[in-house]
Amino acid sequence: MTTARVGVLALQGDVREHVALLEHLGADVVRVRRPEEFAQVHGLALPGGESTVIDKLSRQFELQHPIRAAIREGMPMLGTCAGLIMLSDGLIDGIAGQQTFGGLDVLTRRNAFGRQTESFEAALDIPALGTAPVRAAFIRGPVVEDVGTDAVTLASLPDGRVVAVEQGNLMGISFHPELTGEARFHQRFLDRVAARG
Ligand code: GLN
Repeated sequence: MTTARVGVLALQGDVREHVALLEHLGADVVRVRRPEEFAQVHGLALPGGESTVIDKLSRQFELQHPIRAAIREGMPMLGTCAGLIMLSDGLIDGIAGQQTFGGLDVLTRRNAFGRQTESFEAALDIPALGTAPVRAAFIRGPVVEDVGTDAVTLASLPDGRVVAVEQGNLMGISFHPELTGEARFHQRFLDRVAARG
């Protein structure tokens, strides 16, 4: 099998951490800022950062339409934190005019954790990833408030709030596995890319 070539959307956010983790897993990684770069990849990781900025820049750099088209065509994508927001069909507490790429049939609330708990860590059981718990770092993360019929919950907090979802080849998570050395989501993403050939 040839090495999967995947992209990391490199407009803003924790791009370097996603690149490092994907390279560690053996992927050939392209930083995507332009449509020409996006055209070279078979999967896309969308980093954490600031979704309002990523949205604006993706429109300025003419990536919004190609990314939406790729989502419709089934390209595997993994969004963390702001990346989850970008992949959500519905958004609560966005700024005026904020847009998403969509693809996940979910309604996501931006900055959903109150001030005191803007950042925290939790150990989550995620059966789809095996028995070892996932150490999850939440940094001003969003929460999925409504999971539509087409999407599946991957992980929730003990209080029931949904923090990871998937739908077909799309995965969106509220926290940052790329910051805690948790590689299983990225491996799952690369497996999907490989499965498409
Ligand atoms: N609050 C950020 C946003 O609205 C997300 C935070 C993050 O990605 N760490 O996009």
